[in-house]
Order: sequence, then structure tokens, then C-alpha cells
Amino acid sequence: MRRAGRHFLQIPGPSAVPEQILQAISRQTIDHRGPDFAKVGQRALSGIKTIFKTVQPVIIYPSSGTGGWEAALVNSLSPGDRVLMFETGHFATLWKKIAEKLELRAEFIEGDWRGGADPDRIEAYLAEDKSQEIKAVCVVHNETSTGSVSPIAAIRKAIDNAGHSALFMVDTISGLASLDYRHDEWGVDVTVSGSQKGLMLPPGLSFNAISEKAQAANTKATLKRSYWDWADMLGPNKSGYFPYTPATNLLYGLNEAVDMLHEEGLDNVFARHARHGQAARAAVRAWGLDVLCATQGQESGVLTAVLMPEGHSADKFRATALEHFDISLGNGLSKVADRVFRIGHLGDFNDLMLVATLAGVEMGLTKAKVPHNCGGVTAAMEILDRTPSVGVAAK
Ligand code: PLP
Repeated sequence: MRRAGRHFLQIPGPSAVPEQILQAISRQTIDHRGPDFAKVGQRALSGIKTIFKTVQPVIIYPSSGTGGWEAALVNSLSPGDRVLMFETGHFATLWKKIAEKLELRAEFIEGDWRGGADPDRIEAYLAEDKSQEIKAVCVVHNETSTGSVSPIAAIRKAIDNAGHSALFMVDTISGLASLDYRHDEWGVDVTVSGSQKGLMLPPGLSFNAISEKAQAANTKATLKRSYWDWADMLGPNKSGYFPYTPATNLLYGLNEAVDMLHEEGLDNVFARHARHGQAARAAVRAWGLDVLCATQGQESGVLTAVLMPEGHSADKFRATALEHFDISLGNGLSKVADRVFRIGHLGDFNDLMLVATLAGVEMGLTKAKVPHNCGGVTAAMEILDRTPSVGVAAK
């Protein structure tokens, strides 16, 4: 049956794609080896650097984020290399599984899924590695399964304090273009990201931003690679081309997205996400529920993961909200399956969209008979009122 009105896609990515980007993507596909393509390619390859805040190359793959993860590893490491990872949640666990499949020796610093990666524990772990066997430290910046953010600059410092030479790799698949991120300034060697979150595009592009140190590692790394090989990309990229058929229409969309982000101003984009995260958490607290991220200062502006009261199924609640209010909320993944639901508040998103989303959650909780206090939406509205959005004149 037809459902009137618009669907609320409030999972933490893919995020809803703005009309302007959909229009850009709908243009006719052109010859990716023809003269007109170079302008599209060059604009995309230089524009994306401004979002990663790097002057180093950013490789663009026609793939999901998982491809970007694999590319980061196979381009810079060799079979049997030790790799240190931090268990921030489901996505850190998946990245580790890829490393294991590639026959790297991946080691986890265990975490409780309630905060970001801990720089002190990383420093202590690396300090024990006197013979510098660990070749890479891999951290998820915005852990999408928990809504926790890892302190990337502090982790860089931890690696330096330990006097360790490992490459520093960061997954900011769900953080880029929503949370502050600085590939060069923070001394990250490989940053992995994807198109379908803060960049407001459909799924289908992944990225590797690569430092000089990572490029040097690439010349010695012996893991097998073909499709993902940075070296094959870098040559044609110099003139705006790709070694194989790029996702031309997504590149049109990317060029539009980069312009939109700069038009708003990246700092304003980050502030908008932080403010919406704060308002969403106020709603959760007013409902009498717990935010999964329990580490103050590390709560994400991209999503809020909410713990269900004991004995209540998060998946049943989500199904009820979808059925009655046409809103898709994120599910709990692996360790927190059915225990958690996730509210996405990322991408092209404003105050009224947040309030409507939280109203959908609150009405869903009532409908699904989940014990809670009312007033979550009001609490969020109070925060929004107290902290006016950037660009709106104060009266
Ligand atoms: N890393 C993070 C933090 C993610 O949020 C996701 C997807 O949501 C991935 C990796 C995997 O990306 P994809 O599903 O595009 O392959």
C-alpha cells in the first residue's frame, strides 16, 4: 500500500541524499577516457583533499567502505605483519577480520564498546614492542555501531610517545564531513572513508588518503593486490583519469557535495552535527534510557546508540516504529544485537528533521510499550533553543 509523506531514513548511513546531489548524479554518463572527463576527475581528486584536509593524494575507488579497508591493508603491509587494532565496536571487529583473512597478525586491545580507543593503552602496548614488529595501528574514528569517537590526534601522540614507527591507519567512514578530521595535521598515514555518510552521496565510493610514509611503505609491501593497487591509480590520477571505469555519476555527485560542504563551511557542518548529537542525548536521558557511549566527551554527533531497558527487544521496537511511523532506525550489531537501536543524525540534516526523528522514536516507544518517560522531544527542543544554529541570526 502507498504510504503518504516521506520516509525517514534515520540509520547512521547511508544518509538521505539531497536533491541537489541527486540532480548532479542524474546527468548523462560520459566517456571516462574522453577529453571532458579530465575536468570531472581532476575536480573530484582535488576537491576531496580539502575534506580530508590533506595535500597528499586521495585514492577514489568504485567500492563500498569495506573495499577501502582492504585497500589500506594490502597496499602497505606484508604477509605475517603484526597489526594493532582497538576494539571500539562492530566495525573495528570487522576490520580486524579482514586483516586476519589477509594473513596479517592482527591483535586487539579489548574494549567495552562504550567509548573510543584509549591512547594510553595504545602507548603502553606499543612501548612493549621493543623490536618494532608492529607495522600498523588501526583505529576507527567514529564507531558507527556504538556512537563513540576516538581521539585521533591523541593517538598520534601516543604512537610518537612510544617512539614507534608503525603506520597509523584510521577509518573515518562515518566521521568524514560530519566530525572534525585532519589527515595531515594529525599525522595519519592512511585514512579510509566512504561516500554514503557525511558526504551525502549514495553508497559506492570509498577513499584512501595516503601520506608520503604510506606511499613509501607501498613500494615494499608484498601483500597481493591488483584492483586496489595505489600505484596503478596514482599515474592516471595525475591527469584526472582512472586505470579502470570509475563511478562517473557518483563523481558528479561528489563534486556537488564538496561544493555544498564548503558553502556551508566545514566548521559549521561539524558544529551542526555536535549540536544535534547533544539534543538527541538530552532526549534519550529524558526518556530515562541510557546512551551506549559512556565516555564523556567521546559521544558522536553522527549517531546516538540507545540501550533498551532490560527485557525489551530493540528490533521489535524498530519494527514497530517503521510500521507505524515510516522511520528506519539503525539496529544493534553483533555484541549488542537487539539490545541497542541507533538514531542517525548525519548528513543533510536540520533541526526540524531531528525533532521529527525524535518524535518518531518517542511515539514508537509508546506504541511498542517500552517503558520510558515522555518529554524527550521537549528536552531536545530546549537544547536546540538554547544553542542557536550557526548562520541563524540571534534575536
Ligand atoms: N567502517 C565504518 C565505521 C562503518 O560505519 C562502515 C559501514 O557502515 C564500514 C566501515 C563498512 O563500510 P561499507 O558498509 O560501505 O562497506
